[in-house]
Parts: sequence; structure tokens; C-alpha cells
Amino acid sequence: QLEDGVVFEHANWAGGRQNYLCASLAPKYVKRNYTEILKHINLDCVYLDVFSCNEMDECFNPEHLMTRKECMEYRRACFQYMINRGIIPSSEECSDWAMRELVFSHYGPYEFMMKDENEKRMGIPVPLFNLVYHDCFILPWPMDQKNEDYMLYALLNGGIPYVVRNAPYDNVDGNFGSDGLSIEDRITRANIVLDFYQKIKNEEMVEHKIINDHVQQTTFSNNVTVEINTKENTYRIV
Ligand SMILES: [Zn+2]
Repeated sequence: QLEDGVVFEHANWAGGRQNYLCASLAPKYVKRNYTEILKHINLDCVYLDVFSCNEMDECFNPEHLMTRKECMEYRRACFQYMINRGIIPSSEECSDWAMRELVFSHYGPYEFMMKDENEKRMGIPVPLFNLVYHDCFILPWPMDQKNEDYMLYALLNGGIPYVVRNAPYDNVDGNFGSDGLSIEDRITRANIVLDFYQKIKNEEMVEHKIINDHVQQTTFSNNVTVEINTKENTYRIV
């Protein structure tokens, strides 16, 4: 609820007009829902959508006033609830504030991956998130094969691959329709990234270098280095 008493509403997402549930009420519903679900289904992981992606909310409802900081704490409490039951929590994005609880996410793409490939880029993205959190977070990457092969960034970041990644509809969430790869090709490419992931999954990312406009390297704490060339669409692991 906003300060003037209006309940915020939008229709930007699949499903039409919607409001947000105040996060102060979320732990109660997460507990209620999963208490029932766990009676019927044995879960090993859950996806609590948008908790780690949406900016923090504040609520002016006098019955449950909430600051943005409290919003963060309520969302973390939902992740913690799952951990306490031995269930791995995930959510939409990899966000610093959620790293004590969150184990994996839907994605954490570079900004340019959310736009058409031909749009002007703001610069050369660097893997800041993985330089801090690589060894404690599992991050899936888009694997689109465009003029530039996005698989290279999955390797550079030491992440895991998407085999098929569908958004609710095209042109949202960085989904621009099929790149025409067969499922066999998708599996082959996913296995390349997974094979590399096995080498570095528990390692810190200790260095990132920009060699030139299209060549970058990352090095992991077991001295494995991956170099990508986004002009030639090649990589090498040393
Ligand atoms: Zn509230």
C-alpha cells in the first residue's frame, strides 16, 4: 500500500492486472503453502519468483507498516524457511543481499543480453558478481548462438548452461525467439559448459582480464584459466 492509501497495481507481466502482496505477509503464506505442498511432494529445491529481482517495497498499511530494509529481511526469511527444511532456495536474480541464503537463480545475464543483439552496448561487461561469489552460487547462463556466441560468457563466468530457455512470450526477459539450434546441438553445447564447470565449480574466480576489445580471460583459484574471443567465437582453457 502506498503512502496515500492506494494499492499499487500494474499490468506489465504475464497474467494481466496485478498487485503485490506486502512482504511482511509473505513468510506466513510461504509457510502455509509449503506445509501443504510438502505433505504431497518431496521437494529438493524451490523457486520463489521475483524475490531477488524486484526492488525492495515499502508498505504504508497501518496494520503492517514495512520499510525497504524490513522487506529484504522478510524475503530472506522465506529463503531461510526453505533452508531449515533442507530445501534449496532459488529466485530470479543473483543479488548481493540474498547471498547468505540463495543457492541458485533463474539467471544473472549481462545487461546487453536482455536487449536485441544489434542495440548499442554501454561498454564491455565484467564478471564482478562472480569475482565475489563464484564459489558459493550456481548461476545459469543464456546459451543463444547469435553473431556473438553467448556460450562464451557462460564459460568466462564459470556458470552452468541453459539447454532451452523460454520466457512467457518472445521479446521479454531477454527472450527473442529461437536461434534455430537443434536439441542435439543444444545438449552438445550445454555439455561443453558443464564439463568446464566440473573443473572450477568449487573454486573462487580470482582474476579477470580484458586483453583487447574481443578477448577476455578469467582465472580460478585452482589455476584454471579460460580465454574467450567474442569476434572469432572461440575459447580455450589452459
Ligand atoms: Zn504491509
